[in-house]
Amino acid sequence: MSCLSAPGHAEALWDVLVVGAGVAGAMAAYGAARSGLSVLLIDKAAFPRGKACGCCLNAAAVKLLEDAECDIHASGATPIEQLNLACGGATAKIPIPGGLAISREALDMALIHHAQKAGAAFMPRTTAEATAGFSTHRELSIRQDATVSRLRAKVVLIADGLGGRLLRNDGDLEIAAHSRIGIAGTLEDVCQEYAAGILYMACGKRGYAGLVTVENRRLHIAAALDANAARDAGGATNAIADIMRESEFPVPAGLETCRWYGAPALTRRRRKLFGQRLFILGDSAGYVEPFSGEGMAWALAGAREIIPLLEKAVGAWRDELGPQWQKQYHSLVGSRQRTCRAMTMLLRNRAITRLAVDALRIAPLLAGPLVRQINRPVAIA
Ligand SMILES: Cc1cc2nc3c(=O)[nH]c(=O)nc-3n(C[C@H](O)[C@H](O)[C@H](O)COP(=O)(O)OP(=O)(O)OC[C@H]3O[C@@H](n4cnc5c(N)ncnc54)[C@H](O)[C@@H]3O)c2cc1C
Repeated sequence: MSCLSAPGHAEALWDVLVVGAGVAGAMAAYGAARSGLSVLLIDKAAFPRGKACGCCLNAAAVKLLEDAECDIHASGATPIEQLNLACGGATAKIPIPGGLAISREALDMALIHHAQKAGAAFMPRTTAEATAGFSTHRELSIRQDATVSRLRAKVVLIADGLGGRLLRNDGDLEIAAHSRIGIAGTLEDVCQEYAAGILYMACGKRGYAGLVTVENRRLHIAAALDANAARDAGGATNAIADIMRESEFPVPAGLETCRWYGAPALTRRRRKLFGQRLFILGDSAGYVEPFSGEGMAWALAGAREIIPLLEKAVGAWRDELGPQWQKQYHSLVGSRQRTCRAMTMLLRNRAITRLAVDALRIAPLLAGPLVRQINRPVAIA
């Protein structure tokens, strides 16, 4: 991977600076570079890096990647065809066509390479610490190890994810009461009890856990847990194992050796998705607990949607472009996020979840309309 370092770039005026090289940031960097803009993508992490995610792309996300001509099959993405949804001792087997499983190490690397091939420059291990807007440009203070410097661009995109702290003091973020936290990790050894191509989802009293096989037949596990569940169970591993046992799923050997990645309170809303010469996208723009597994589709769709606006903003910044982005983004994902939120609220009720699983066990095709809704292309209604 060819990467830039900060010295030598302090005086450059980029068209676009993108903070965060997850799915939203890397896809936006790709789109902006394809449009002929000069783009610098930065991320605080060294890549490849894992992160808290279920690693399942639904059909809508797969379509967005195909439209952008990003081939993730070469990176080891494998089809997912079925959801085994379990609660108590019951399991429903629901067809979910068109999805793919791929680790975030592999997916994000593929997207970054795709952006680089389109002409974007990339700086890993670079943390954005502060940003300020001016009439002619926007500045970003960055840190690489102990070195602090600055970058300048006509427009800055913030795609720093759930854990992003760059805009933490702007007062615009609302965290939902009783929001669950996220956790995920990958087991290095093959686990025979879980078949490839199936997403296993265990719904427990204090959260739910999904298990899926990713490239090299490794088992990836992701969970949304009540805020105190890990503490009360004596650690995240115990909390996740408890959820699996409640659904009579086998607890994989070596679970206690898994390296876990965490995500803070999941359900959140950002009141304002813009600033002077600044747009916010991806999870940083707001997020809902991930039961329906749509977060990456929302992030990719937002990254595609912003490009025409970004071209205008780079050409000549106008203050109305910010509210326009906010309106567009809400039309794009607002109703999907509300549906996902309603679904996760219902699933917190064990009796309702058990009833749903029992019904779907007898008639799995009842889930068809919901699956089709989740898989339909993400576009402005
Ligand atoms: C437990 C869990 C399970 C999930 N399962 C699924 C699933 O199966 N399918 C699905 O579609 N979605 C799922 N999601 C949601 C999905 O992970 C997110 O919606 C998606 O990653 C959002 O992408 P993003 O680019 O906005 O943020 P991220 O992918 O989080 O990327 C943000 C990037 O910003 C970088 N960054 C942060 N701060 C700075 C800074 N100051 N300077 C520089 N870089 C910075 C980070 O290092 C990171 O690389 C899940 C989420 C969780 C928590």
